Amino acid sequence: MRGGLRVDGDHQIDPRRLAGALVAACERAGVVFHRAWAERLTVVRDRVAGVVTADGTALDAGRVVLAGGSLSGRLAGVPEDVLPPVRPVKGQVVRLIMPQRHGPFLSRTVRAVVRGSHVYLVPRESGELVVGATSEEMGWDTTVTAGGVYELLRDAHELVPGITELPFTETRAGLRPGSPDNAPLLGPTGLEGLLLATGHYRNGVLLTPVTGDAMAHLLSTGELPEEARPFTPQRFSTATALTEQPA
Ligand SMILES: Cc1cc2nc3c(=O)[nH]c(=O)nc-3n(C[C@H](O)[C@H](O)[C@H](O)COP(=O)(O)OP(=O)(O)OC[C@H]3O[C@@H](n4cnc5c(N)ncnc54)[C@H](O)[C@@H]3O)c2cc1C
Repeated sequence: MRGGLRVDGDHQIDPRRLAGALVAACERAGVVFHRAWAERLTVVRDRVAGVVTADGTALDAGRVVLAGGSLSGRLAGVPEDVLPPVRPVKGQVVRLIMPQRHGPFLSRTVRAVVRGSHVYLVPRESGELVVGATSEEMGWDTTVTAGGVYELLRDAHELVPGITELPFTETRAGLRPGSPDNAPLLGPTGLEGLLLATGHYRNGVLLTPVTGDAMAHLLSTGELPEEARPFTPQRFSTATALTEQPA
């Protein structure tokens, strides 16, 4: 160990509980959810008119925020030149259970670089210990592999040797939405009414509040706030910028 940094202001959140809490808060605020797959974007006279869901329902909307994670570049009906350049980046995690008997096994998040790979150990209040995460360019593959689990446990063991004694509860592989520069894609596209909130790569949970604030500001005022402007989709598409026409 070459050195370390203790960050007292560091925090963590359980993304599964965050998603549940957000849905509950939205419902309380009167948001109406259509729990169906968006099959296709409807475009009428070069502007967005809504979406059609998998059960054939047409939902009218003058503005649509495309926030489909790694699938954001695959929504049918979106013209080729405004499709977000998002690719899937595979990440594997392992979950263990910490004993509660003799005080906390680990009371704060530990993150490090081991042999060039980033590894973190996140103790949850529930007693779960999350060890993550691999970063693999494997297309749409979500197989949990022996090699991925081995590397995570090997690197985590180097930081906190006691982890190999813990019960093993879960392995999982997910897909992160990566953009060409791995920074988010936020804001309007060259198609009138189509907005993006995607491409958050490794930081989509962390950036949830700032993304929500930026998109709410854009939808209510028509302007992206200053801090979000470097992340407009236009940075990747001269074609998009050139096709923007006054209404
Ligand atoms: C192993 C792993 C570890 C990670 N660790 C961290 C971390 O420590 N911190 C952090 O900040 N981020 C982390 N991330 C990244 C984070 O999970 C992503 O950045 C974030 O989930 C992106 O959020 P999103 O809402 O844009 O996309 P997603 O979470 O992928 O959600 C998109 C949703 O849209 C749905 N969808 C797509 N297309 C359609 C359609 N046509 N109709 C209806 N629904 C559709 C999908 O099914 C999905 O439910 C990690 C990711 C992985 C895989």
